[in-house]
Amino acid sequence: MTIRDKILIIEDEQSIARFISTILAANGYETMLARTGSEGLSMVSSNCPDLVILDLGLPDMDGMDILKSLRGWSSLPVVVVSARSHEKDKVAALDMGADDYLTKPFGTDELLARVRTAMRHTRTATGNDELARRGTYSVGDLVIDYNKHQVLVGGVNAKLTLSEFRIVALLGKHAGKVLTYDYIIRELWGPRAGSDNQILRVNMANIRRKIEKNPAEPQYIFTEVGVGYRMAEGDGN
Ligand code: CA
Repeated sequence: MTIRDKILIIEDEQSIARFISTILAANGYETMLARTGSEGLSMVSSNCPDLVILDLGLPDMDGMDILKSLRGWSSLPVVVVSARSHEKDKVAALDMGADDYLTKPFGTDELLARVRTAMRHTRTATGNDELARRGTYSVGDLVIDYNKHQVLVGGVNAKLTLSEFRIVALLGKHAGKVLTYDYIIRELWGPRAGSDNQILRVNMANIRRKIEKNPAEPQYIFTEVGVGYRMAEGDGN
């Protein structure tokens, strides 16, 4: 018998809570529901969930305050759900320690993908089994070879520059997860690099020209508008 992962849903809108709960239950998760922020916070400490799905717009508390309070003592994976389409809210939630976000309305596949990825990243250091075992990450025809510092497409070296390789390598290490522009810049160029996205955008344009069949419709590295980039997930994870 396998122990099912417990997911706490903190969401006041009943139809959405039921939608999320039904999908997760049908996919083997155990679900619990809280309708207010204070109820949610107390359920985190009393029920020890494996992951929290947190609505940002709750009747009694702002979801951001809940996230802030949670992050004071817990590294539990949190996927934020927001009706707000403003990019700055998503970036703020990610900066506050959310693992990922869903924007209402979202579909079944998106929900399950975000939950799976957030759960996996807390279990393995890299979040990526293939990378841990073999030092490579592959998705479709793309292979990132972390030992040789190369990216291959269909077996052919894409000849990335060192900066380009480091961007792809970082995204591959966190495949499936959105990384904000600021996070990528800080990781690669240090905390004093500032938050000018221009250099990142230029690098990404070059990367896409080298690795994507159609740079305008990328299949490996997706843009999350106003937020950051997300590497596609491979089958081998
Ligand atoms: Ca709400």
